[in-house]
Amino acid sequence: MADLTPDEKHPGLHISAEPVYRRHDDPGRWWNTTASTPTASFTCGTCGDSDTARGAGKVRDLVDDYTANHGPAHGRK
Ligand SMILES: [Zn+2]
Repeated sequence: MADLTPDEKHPGLHISAEPVYRRHDDPGRWWNTTASTPTASFTCGTCGDSDTARGAGKVRDLVDDYTANHGPAHGRK
């Protein structure tokens, strides 16, 4: 598997978690159904900010932060 960790040359959001295989229509959310502790990191290509998170709750917060404040959100008002 390629290394998808974002850096200055490849900004973006990266989440790593091993999925637990379930029925395709299982209502469980991925962050509650992973086999190991998920990790996530982002590097914003616009402002250069970066962050990492470990653990389901922190990963979710990081994704929310990136979605709300970084990446494509910089072009939004
Ligand atoms: Zn940013």
